[in-house]
Amino acid sequence: MSEFFQIAIDGPVAAGKGTVSRLLAQKLGFLYVDTGAMYRATALLSLRHEISLNDEDKVIALLEKSKLEMRNPLSPTEIDGRLTTIILDGEDISWAIRTQECSDGSSKVAVLAKLRKVLVKKQQEIARSQDVVMEGRDITFRVLPEADLKIYLTASIEARAIRRHTQYLTKGINVSIEEVIKEIKERDERDMKRKTDPLQVMPDAWLVDTSKLEIEEVVDLIVAKVKEIRNE
Ligand code: C5P
Repeated sequence: MSEFFQIAIDGPVAAGKGTVSRLLAQKLGFLYVDTGAMYRATALLSLRHEISLNDEDKVIALLEKSKLEMRNPLSPTEIDGRLTTIILDGEDISWAIRTQECSDGSSKVAVLAKLRKVLVKKQQEIARSQDVVMEGRDITFRVLPEADLKIYLTASIEARAIRRHTQYLTKGINVSIEEVIKEIKERDERDMKRKTDPLQVMPDAWLVDTSKLEIEEVVDLIVAKVKEIRNE
């Protein structure tokens, strides 16, 4: 077990993982790591270079040639509703990775086993030297299998669709709720059915359903659990 405190959070699309994790990390003074941003950045990179999202070797070669940096906590000028700051070869792509095309592309590159290995290694390195709240789809069983607290955060499809739809509208992305439901279902299906490390609920994970809870309530619940684990 690591000398640092590790909180691992997995869950389906739009369950609230990002918002909850960011606030939780802020409250606890931990580093927030948005691993989905890495898959999204890889998709953006491949799309921009017109590389097929199935071409594993080319996708990895491109990623390895590029410089990807994640910055958290956010600096005052970066507080604009984003979850995390991610820089690709000097360009701030924090918002560019949030389009529907990138969301869809991220779950397509996420089926590539060798790419997952590369990204898992980077994520494990980050967690080696600090307390973290890390969220994604394989954190509780692949990236941080020894985490001090494992959470599977979920919510009903209706609650998730409403949240994601609102996020798109505030960003000026005009989509119907039906399209959002379709996107969520397709991405969940790909994430849960892929061969390598599909999203799954670990027997030792704490299942938290956020459908009827406010974000702050979820964060408070988790903070209380952390205190319990640390005997505080
Ligand atoms: O969490 P977010 O929706 O930003 O993740 C984008 C996509 O990246 C997911 O749909 C999933 O396919 C992939 N992902 C993953 N493993 C992670 C994090 C994200 O496969 N640890």
